[in-house]
Amino acid sequence: KVVTRFAPSPTGFLHIGGARTALFNWLYSRHTGGKMLLRIEDTDRERSTEAATSAILDGLSWLGLTWDGDPVSQFERAPRHREVAEELVRMGKAYYCYASPEELNEMREKARAEGRPPRYDGRWRDRDPSEAPAGVKGAIRIKAPTEGETIVHDRVQGEVRFPNKDLDDFIILRSDGNPTYMHAVVVDDHDMGVTHIIRGDDHLTNAARQTVIYNALGWDVPVMAHIPLIHGADGAKLSKRHGALGVEAYRAMGYLPAALRNYLARLGWSHGDDEVMSLEDMISWFEIEDVNKGAARFDFQKLEALNGVHMRRMDDAELLEIFVATLPYLENGAPIAGGLDDERRAQLLAAMPGLKERAKTLVELADGSAFLFAQRPLAVDEKAAPVLGERPRTVLKGAHTALAALTGEWNAAAVEAAIREFANENGLKLGAVAQPLRVALTGKTTSPGVFDVLAVLGRDESLGRIADQID
Ligand code: GLU
Repeated sequence: KVVTRFAPSPTGFLHIGGARTALFNWLYSRHTGGKMLLRIEDTDRERSTEAATSAILDGLSWLGLTWDGDPVSQFERAPRHREVAEELVRMGKAYYCYASPEELNEMREKARAEGRPPRYDGRWRDRDPSEAPAGVKGAIRIKAPTEGETIVHDRVQGEVRFPNKDLDDFIILRSDGNPTYMHAVVVDDHDMGVTHIIRGDDHLTNAARQTVIYNALGWDVPVMAHIPLIHGADGAKLSKRHGALGVEAYRAMGYLPAALRNYLARLGWSHGDDEVMSLEDMISWFEIEDVNKGAARFDFQKLEALNGVHMRRMDDAELLEIFVATLPYLENGAPIAGGLDDERRAQLLAAMPGLKERAKTLVELADGSAFLFAQRPLAVDEKAAPVLGERPRTVLKGAHTALAALTGEWNAAAVEAAIREFANENGLKLGAVAQPLRVALTGKTTSPGVFDVLAVLGRDESLGRIADQID
C-alpha cells in the first residue's frame, strides 16, 4: 500500500512550490488508494514557529489537501533519532567524532584553499574512542562508503549517480544530542512507513546521503521522485514577482482552490493535452511517470484564465458559497460581507450567471457585485461620470418613464422589451440607452447585462437609482 508524505519546514507560509509538492503527494496517494501523511519538520527551533505551522495546515485545508492521521512533529521524535544513531554506532556503521571546532575549521580552510568542497577527513573513523578528550561530547558520524557510487533510482530523474569519494562521513547526531536533518528524515520516513518520497529536486543530493543512511541500517529505500522546481514565466528562478507567494495570497487574489489545484497539477505534470481538469480527473490520471523533467514555468495569465473557466463551469450556488466564504480575505470583500443578508444573497445568486461571465477571479466577482450593495444615491465612478451628460440625462428620463409604465412582472425579458421599444421609437441605438442606464444603476461602465441588472435590483430600487441621476 502506498504511503506518501508532505514534510514542510514551518519557517514560513505554505508557498506555491510546497503546495505543488503536497498536491503531487496527495494525488498519488489518492490515485493508488494509499495514504498521505504530514510531518512538520520543526527541528530548527530558532526558525520554526507555531504561526507558520498553522498557516501551512490552513493552506493545505483551503486547497482541499487532506492528510491521514495526526501531523507528526519531527522535533518530538528526537529521542528516537538519537536511539537509531547510537544503534548505528553499536553496529559499527557510525562512530563518535571528537574533532574540535578548530580542527574542523582547518579542514574547511584547507579545502577552500585547494578549491574543493569542504569534506571531513575521517580522522576519528578508525580511532579508539578511549582516546576521546576528557569532558568532550562527540558527534556521531556515519561511515560513508569511500569507493564506488551511490545511486539514487529516481522515478523522475532516472538513475542519478554520486561518486562516493564526494560523500564524507557526515554528522547524523550533533554533540548536543540533536539529530541532523538528514538523519531525522530517514528515521521518520522509515518509522512512518513511507513508501514514496515525492519532493523538489533541490533535495536530490540529500537523497544520496539519505541512501547511505538507509543502507547502513539495512532498511529499504523508499521510491524517490524528485520533481523539477518551479521557475518564473521568463525562465528565471521563482521570485515574489513571479508568484512565489504563500497560498493565502492566492486566496486573497480571488483564485478558487479548484483552479489553483488544477493549475499547480499542470505545473510539471501533464495528461495529454488536457488543461481543465476536475479533481476526479486528476486523481484518476496522476502518474509519477508523467511528471516532466524540465523546470515548470509559473504564468499568472494562465492561472487567471483557468480560474475564469472554473468559475464559469461551477454551479451558481456552489460558486456563491465559495465567494461568500472567501469575502473576508478579498481586498474588496468587506463592503459585501457587511451588507450580506438573505435578500442580497438571493440577488447575488440571481445575478451569478451574468456576473461570472465577466469575472476571472473572485476579486473581479466582488467588483461586479458591488452595485448590489451600493447605497442610494450611488457614487459614480470617475470613469463613468462623463456618460451621464446632458443628452444622456434626457434619455434616462425617457427610459425611466418607459420602465415605470411596466405593469406586468418585472423581469429581464420585460424590461428589455420596454427599453428596446423606447429606443426604437426615439431613433436611438440600444447602446445609447443601455450605457447611461448602466451607469445610473451601477455607478460603473462595466457590469453584467443591463437587463439582468434591472431584473436583479427589482423595480423600486432600479427606478429610484435612475431617478437619482435625472434630478
Ligand atoms: N522539510 C523539507 C523542506 O521543507 C522537505 C524534506 C523532505 O521532503 O524530505 O524542504
